[in-house]
Amino acid sequence: MRVIIDLNRCESNALCMDACPEVFEVRGDDRLHLLNESPAEHLRERVEQAVRACPKQAIRVDG
Ligand code: SF4
Repeated sequence: MRVIIDLNRCESNALCMDACPEVFEVRGDDRLHLLNESPAEHLRERVEQAVRACPKQAIRVDG
C-alpha cells in the first residue's frame, strides 16, 4: 500500500498519529511528517483508522 497526504488540506491535529504513530507524526514544528509512505501490510487496519479519523480527508491510500 502507498500512503499519500494532501498537505494543503492537513491541519496538523494529529488524529492520524493517534491511530497509527508508526506512519504519521506531527512534530514540534506543527507539521505532519509521513514516517513511512509504504507501510507493511500488518499496519493496514490502523492506517485505515487514520483515514477515517482525519476530518479533512487529507489521507489517501493506494493499493
Ligand atoms: S488527521 Fe488529517 S488533518 Fe489531522 S494531522 Fe492527520 S492528515 Fe492532518
